[in-house]
Amino acid sequence: MYKTDWQDAKREANFINRKFFRLPKHYLKIRIRKLGNVWAYAEETDDGDHFTVMHTHYPSYGFFRNVLAHELIHQWQYYHKLTGTHDKKFFTWRKPMLEYGYEILKEYPCDKVD
Ligand SMILES: [Zn+2]
Repeated sequence: MYKTDWQDAKREANFINRKFFRLPKHYLKIRIRKLGNVWAYAEETDDGDHFTVMHTHYPSYGFFRNVLAHELIHQWQYYHKLTGTHDKKFFTWRKPMLEYGYEILKEYPCDKVD
């Protein structure tokens, strides 16, 4: 089990952004919260702010970074005014990100851990 660490999240997000997205810094803000029935979500607020909210725990570090990479694709979609769905454009990132060990799936099914 992996307990979400803010420094890890920040480092991974910066790495992913440098390698792939080149988003402005304010798209990379991370929050860690105990979430109910999702592993994470990407948020665009009414006033145009952006947050990626991550759960407090994951089954493993690899699982955590896959989920983070997935949510950052949604931030990329927000930045480019694309639909925030798991469409064809979303999955154009699957291959390039897999080269760096990020597995992009539509969902990450697994029982929640405490
Ligand atoms: Zn998604």
